[in-house]
Formats: sequence, structure tokens, C-alpha cells
Amino acid sequence: MKILVPVKRVVDYNVKVRLKADGSGVDTANVKMSMNPFDEIAVEEALRIKEAGNAEEVIAVSIGVQQCQETLRTALAMGADRAILVKTDAAIEPLAVAKILAKITADVGADLVILGKQAIDDDSNQTGQMLAALLGRPQGTFASELNLADGKIAVTREVDGGLETLSLSLPAVVTADLRLNEPRYASLPNIMKAKRKPMEQLAAEDYGVDLTPRHNVILVSEPAAREAGVKVANVAELVAKLKSVGAI
Ligand code: AMP
Repeated sequence: MKILVPVKRVVDYNVKVRLKADGSGVDTANVKMSMNPFDEIAVEEALRIKEAGNAEEVIAVSIGVQQCQETLRTALAMGADRAILVKTDAAIEPLAVAKILAKITADVGADLVILGKQAIDDDSNQTGQMLAALLGRPQGTFASELNLADGKIAVTREVDGGLETLSLSLPAVVTADLRLNEPRYASLPNIMKAKRKPMEQLAAEDYGVDLTPRHNVILVSEPAAREAGVKVANVAELVAKLKSVGAI
């Protein structure tokens, strides 16, 4: 079995983002970029499936600018076998990403695609679902546990009332939630080894997918600043204050 893991290059989750002055989006110039955290979890899960003897190959793919190579090298250093960079300088939306991923899934013959549940930059939470629909495959989203047996995959999902377990027949699409696993750190020898692992480079335009955005971003703005709090001397003053603002 081959597992495809799409990994997105996003602003590192520790960075406090700044907006562009014209309100058109987030300023990514000179900002630390990293692999989307849910994609690290997806890579980790794919590696565990391979290490358990249930897959032969883990392939990482990233769609975006040339620097996505660095993100792919991280996946290779974690243990992925090979990588595919689909290069484009255009800002692409989840539907176009899903269409390209559908073609790559077929090209590499991946039985299982494990994506992150969402990319932390745009918080779209769409690509995995769209990919499953385009491929006509069953989907298990927000997975917090995966178990493979007899050509089926059991996906445990955290839902409002507790845990739901689905049984999907393979081939399938799964998206990783936070509690699925704790991703490994790449060791220095593995980082060195990753430099020699194969990385294929293709152009997004070659997939015949319309990359034109279907949405216009009207404005990206900072959240309203929180008002400073006040200190009260005693409980009576606190109650009076809460009453005055209509909180009680
Ligand atoms: P989204 O639907 O944008 O929230 O993204 C969900 C998941 O789709 C991510 O966690 C990635 O696994 C995958 N994905 C989205 N965009 C890309 C991209 N440009 N390249 C590779 N994978 C992507």
C-alpha cells in the first residue's frame, strides 16, 4: 500500500502574524514558515502505518512556491520515502488543491491519503473532504485514532457526544486531528539522509486544473483590541460593576 501525505507550508504557529497595510492578507515577508502542524501529525501517522508493516511507501506532496521544498525535506527527514513538489506562485484555493491532489493520488497509485484536518493559515478545512468527493472514496475526517485490518481502516473521530468509529473500505481519504499522535522530531542523521531522498518537481499548470481563485478577499482586519480591565476593592463593588454593565 502507498500512502500520500499532502503537506502545506504555512506561517509557523509560534509567529504572531502581521497584516499587510492594505488589508489584503497576512504579511509573509521575512516570516518563519513551517509545515502545517496537522500535516506533521498526518506524516507521523503514515510513518507508523508503514513501520507496522501495513504500507510500503510514504509519499509527501506540497503545492506552492519553490520554498515548499523545505517543508518536503522536513517530511523526508521525519521518514517519508520521496516527495513531490507541485510548483506554483499563484495563491490557490482548496478546490484547486484537491483537484491536483486527485490527479497525483491516481498517478502514484495511493490507496490511502492522509491530510491535515485544516491548514492553520486559512482555516478552510475543505481539502480532504473535496478530495474524497473528487476521488469517489470514503472519508474519515478529524481522526483521533486509526486502525488498519483486513483491507479496512477504522477511523475514530471526536464528535460532540464522545467518540465515533467509522469503518472505511480502502482506498480512502483520512484527515488528521490533534490527538491522533505526537509527531516525531527529525534526528540530525535523518535530516542529512533526507537531502539524498528523491524529490520530483512538477508545475501546477501542467495538471490542466483551473487555478483561478473563486473568491475575492474583501478585507482582512485585526481582531478588536481587548479593553483593559479594572480592579475592584471588594465583592460589593464587583457586583455593582457587573450590574452596571448588564452582566448580571
Ligand atoms: P485546508 O482545507 O486548506 O484547511 O487544508 C487541509 C489539508 O489539505 C492540509 O492540512 C494539507 O494536508 C492539505 N493541503 C491544503 N493545501 C495544501 C497545499 N497547498 N499543498 C499540500 N497540501 C495542502
